[in-house]
Amino acid sequence: MAKIFCVANQKGGVGKTTTAVNLAAGLAQLEQRVLLVDLDPQGNATMGAGINKSDLQTTVYQVLLGMADVKGACKRSEAGKFDVLPANRELAGAEVEMGELDNRETRLKQALSAVNENYDFVLIDCPPALSMLTLNGLCAAHGVIIPMQCEYYALEGLSDLVNTIKIVHGKLNPELKIIGLLRVMFDPRVTLSQQVSAQLEQHFGDKVFKTIIPRNVRLAEAPSYGVPGVCFDPSSKGAQAYIAFGAEMVERIRAL
Ligand code: ATP
Ligand code: MG
Repeated sequence: MAKIFCVANQKGGVGKTTTAVNLAAGLAQLEQRVLLVDLDPQGNATMGAGINKSDLQTTVYQVLLGMADVKGACKRSEAGKFDVLPANRELAGAEVEMGELDNRETRLKQALSAVNENYDFVLIDCPPALSMLTLNGLCAAHGVIIPMQCEYYALEGLSDLVNTIKIVHGKLNPELKIIGLLRVMFDPRVTLSQQVSAQLEQHFGDKVFKTIIPRNVRLAEAPSYGVPGVCFDPSSKGAQAYIAFGAEMVERIRAL
C-alpha cells in the first residue's frame, strides 16, 4: 500500500516542485518505488523529471476526467528512476470541467487506488492555489509536506493552508495530517531566516522536519537539463540535503 503525500503551499515559488521532484529521486535512490503526480498545469514537475510536457497524448487531465487510467498515462523518469503522472496546460481546463462531475474532490483518490500496490510512495506536486486541483491532492493523501522559505510573509500564508487542511480533514479526508514543514532555500547567513526558523520550531515542534534544504544553485540549474537535482550533481549541498530528507521521510512514515 502506497503512502501518499501532497507537497502543498498556496504561495507561489516556494520550492514545492523542487521538493517533489528531488524527494521522488531521493526516495528512488533508497530503493523505494515512487510515483510523482504533477497536479499543476504549469507542468514543472513533469519537465523537471525529464518528460517533455508538450508532446503528451495522455496526462493527469484525462485521468481526472475519467478518460484514461493512471497506468496508461504514466511515463518513466529515466534519470530519476521513478514514474510520473504528467501534466501540461490542458489541466487548467479540468478545474471547470470537474465542477460538473460527481465526486469532484475525490477523482484523483479514486484513480490512484488502482495503482496503490505498485508503489511505496506517491508524491503529489500541487499548484500554487487552494483550488479544486489542490483539493483533489489533499483528498487523495495521507499527509501534507509544506515547503516554506524562512521569511516573514511565509508565516502569514501558513494559517490559510493549515485551516484548509483542517477543513479537508474534518469533512472529506479524516486520514489527512500535516507530516511536516520543510525549510527550503535556507540561507544561514540571513538573520531573519534564522529567526523565522527558530519561530517555526517553537510553534510547530516536531512538525518541523530536521532536514533543512539550503539555497543551492545546482538545484535551480537541474530542471533545464530535465534531471532531478539529486541526480544532476549528487555531491552538491542541495542534493545531499534532499537525500537526507528522503531518509527522514522513510523514518517518519514508519512511525505514522
Ligand atoms: P510554483 O508555485 O510556481 O509551482 P514552486 O513552489 O513549485 O513554484 P519551485 O518551482 O520549486 O517552486 O521553485 C521556485 C524557483 O526557485 C525555481 O526557479 C527553483 O529552481 C528555485 N529553487 C527552489 N529550491 C531552491 C533551492 N533550494 N536553492 C536554489 N533555488 C531553488
Ligand atoms: Mg511548482
